[in-house]
Amino acid sequence: MSESPGPALCGVILHPAGHTLSPVLHLEAYAELGLDAHYHAFDVPLQSAPAAIDGMRALGIRQLSVSLPLKEVALERADRASAAASAIGAANTLTRVGEDLVADNTDWIGVQRTLAPLGDWRDARALVLGAGGAARAVVYALRELGLEVGVWNRTRTRAEKIAAELGAAVVEQDASWDLLVNATPVGMYPHSDHTPLPDDRLRAGGTVFDTVYRPLETRLLREASARGCRVQDGLDMLVHQAAEQVRLWSGRTPSAQRMRRAALAAIAAA
Ligand code: NAP
Repeated sequence: MSESPGPALCGVILHPAGHTLSPVLHLEAYAELGLDAHYHAFDVPLQSAPAAIDGMRALGIRQLSVSLPLKEVALERADRASAAASAIGAANTLTRVGEDLVADNTDWIGVQRTLAPLGDWRDARALVLGAGGAARAVVYALRELGLEVGVWNRTRTRAEKIAAELGAAVVEQDASWDLLVNATPVGMYPHSDHTPLPDDRLRAGGTVFDTVYRPLETRLLREASARGCRVQDGLDMLVHQAAEQVRLWSGRTPSAQRMRRAALAAIAAA
């Protein structure tokens, strides 16, 4: 693999391109750290993903963030993968390391860094809603932290698969929890009036973490707050997974607070 001269080339592949905060987050980190690098959003339909990843090799692109629906193909196409990406079954990051393209998953790190300031989670019980890519990263992160994890999903067979593979249990929506995580898109813009769980299932004293970040305050978080729960929005997860991506290629860790501020400014300006 050749190394392109000049600034490092980085970017995100996703489809449809739509609205992504990744360029804002990464460019803010590069500015803070004084990294000479470009970051570009590439609209890559699923059928073009293998060619795009081969193009990454040929063009000497240093790192690609990988979004929906390309995370599985990124894992398959890489030369090697981290243990976490293999266990989760999806890669949100491809980084050139020497001659190799290495697949990684930083979503689970985003989850752990979001939850770390909120307390000691060992032996706590979590209820995770959803069984897609985000839920897999969430369950992996929570199991690594030592939580007992129950998964509820609209399609039960998918919950059974994630539970069997990642050491969780399949539960009903009324299972008891200390931490509730929404890892479905329910409540996301433009369907902000939807919620994944009726509010009579929200228990005072629990913590509710919604991975949705558009809007920042979802209906679920609003209702959880009103019922006396502690609430956490999805933006910190997004920020921390991006900060870890920057560290993977540059060896430097940017300020998550500064990245969050940049994201909030971009959201306000949109
Ligand atoms: P995905 O792989 O497509 O999975 C979507 C999951 O949500 C599936 O379990 C699906 O259930 C469930 N679901 C979809 N619509 C539903 C509905 N109307 N009612 C009940 N369940 C429904 O997507 P993903 O990659 O896991 O992403 C899910 C969400 O996570 C995203 O929309 C995003 O908001 C959030 N996310 C946040 C971050 C972050 O950094 N904050 C990162 C990644 C993702 P079925 O199996 O029944 O279809």
